[in-house]
Amino acid sequence: MSHDPNCVFCKIVQGAIPSRKVYEDEEIFVFHDIHPWAPVHFLMIPKDHIASMAQVEPAHAGLLGRMMALAPKLAAEQGCNPYPQGGFRIVVNTGAEGGQEVHHLHIHVMGGPRPWLKG
Ligand code: 5GP
Ligand code: ZN
Repeated sequence: MSHDPNCVFCKIVQGAIPSRKVYEDEEIFVFHDIHPWAPVHFLMIPKDHIASMAQVEPAHAGLLGRMMALAPKLAAEQGCNPYPQGGFRIVVNTGAEGGQEVHHLHIHVMGGPRPWLKG
């Protein structure tokens, strides 16, 4: 498991920066976004420091698959309304032109009644 000492999300995983935790297991950490765009807005991250989707390789397929498969359960638990009237949005910003600000791979999961702050 690699950590970047200068990475905000590595510090959140290690508890050095507090967060509102949603879920944790041996490889995944999930917490509420500090500036939510939507009534429900949490971030799913690998505990391992992977900078972005641009660094993802076939060896990460299992981990990413487990993160995606976990999203619907957590979205429902956090108050996203049922599909199809409800639902949620998953976003993974990647690189500067992709709008990524924190360079530790994270899956945004957003949901809840409209309107949202962005989009
Ligand atoms: P990005 O633009 O990189 O896709 O999204 C980074 C997200 O991380 C932003 O939505 C921002 O609000 C959130 N964020 C940045 N720093 C912190 C923090 O210290 N704690 C929490 N909970 N969220 C953060
Ligand atoms: Zn990190």
